[in-house]
Amino acid sequence: MAEYCFGIDIGGTTVKCGLFKTDGELCDKWEIVTRTEDGGKQILPDVAASILKKMEEKGIAKEQVSGVGVGVPGPVIKEREVSVAVNLHWGYTMLADELEALLNGICVKVGNDANVAALGEMWKGGGEGTRSLVMVTLGTGVGGGIIVDGKIVTGAHGAGGEIGHACVDPSETESCNCGNKGCLEQMASATGIVRLAKKILAVETEPTVLNAEDISAKAIFDAYKEGDATAAKIVDRFAEYLGNALGIFGCVVDPEVFVIGGGVSKAGQPLIDAVKKYYQRDAFLSCKDTPIVLAKLDNDAGIFGAAKLVVE
Ligand SMILES: [Zn+2]
Repeated sequence: MAEYCFGIDIGGTTVKCGLFKTDGELCDKWEIVTRTEDGGKQILPDVAASILKKMEEKGIAKEQVSGVGVGVPGPVIKEREVSVAVNLHWGYTMLADELEALLNGICVKVGNDANVAALGEMWKGGGEGTRSLVMVTLGTGVGGGIIVDGKIVTGAHGAGGEIGHACVDPSETESCNCGNKGCLEQMASATGIVRLAKKILAVETEPTVLNAEDISAKAIFDAYKEGDATAAKIVDRFAEYLGNALGIFGCVVDPEVFVIGGGVSKAGQPLIDAVKKYYQRDAFLSCKDTPIVLAKLDNDAGIFGAAKLVVE
C-alpha cells in the first residue's frame, strides 16, 4: 500500500510543499518560489520537478505515493480543473491532467485553497476527530470552508464556503471587493475590523489608547484585553456580526465544530469568547452548544488539507 503523499499549497508568492505519511505525519516541508511570469506557465513544471527531486532524495518510488493534492487560490471544478486563478496569472487550467503528465502518472487532486485549509484543520487541526466543520479564516479577507462527512462542499458553482460574502448588514452603503454591500468580509476581516473601528472612533468621546490614524486588528484586540472601553465596543460589534453569521451557518450545515483561523484569530480565546456570546444568542436551539475553536495548523493547514485530498 502507498505510504506517502504530497500536499502542495500554491500561493501568489510561494508554493508550500509537504511530504506526508498517509496517516497524516508530516515528514518534510519546504517552499519554492511561485514564478507567475508568462501566465504562470512555469508553476506546474516547477512543482513537479520539486516533488520528483524530493522522491529521489528520500528514495521513494512512484508506487509508494498515493497521490499529490494541490490547493490553489481560485474556483476548482471536479477536483481537477481550475476556472481561473488571478494571483497565479492563470486562466482556465487543466491542472490535474497537466501535473499528472509531468509526474509520470501519479494521481493528482485539486481543491480551492480556503476549502483545503478547512480539510486540513479537520484532519490534524482544531477540528481533529470530527467529520464535519465550518471554518472561517479571518485574514486580509474572510475565507471559509465547509466540510460535511469528511468531504469539502464545493457547491454547484464553486461558491460553497464563500462565507466572507454572506450579507450580514443590508444597510451597509460601502461596497465589498465582490461588488455587493454588507458582506461579512467588510466587518470581520483584518481590514473590516479597522473599518468598524474608524467609524466608532469618529463618534467616540471616551478616552482610549486607540488612534484612528494608526490602527490594526492586533492593536484593537490588545487594547480590548487591557480593558479599553472603546476597543470593547469595536470587538463587540465585530463579534455580533461574526457570531450572527455563524448562527446562520449553523442552521444550514449544523457542523460538529466551528474553526476560526487567519491572522485576526491570533487574538486567541478572548476573540472566541466574544463571538460565542452572539453565536449562542442567535443559533438554533439544538446547535447552541456547538464548540467554536481556534485553528491549530496556522500556515500549514493548506499542505495538510491538500495531502488529505489524496488519502481516503
Ligand atoms: Zn463581498
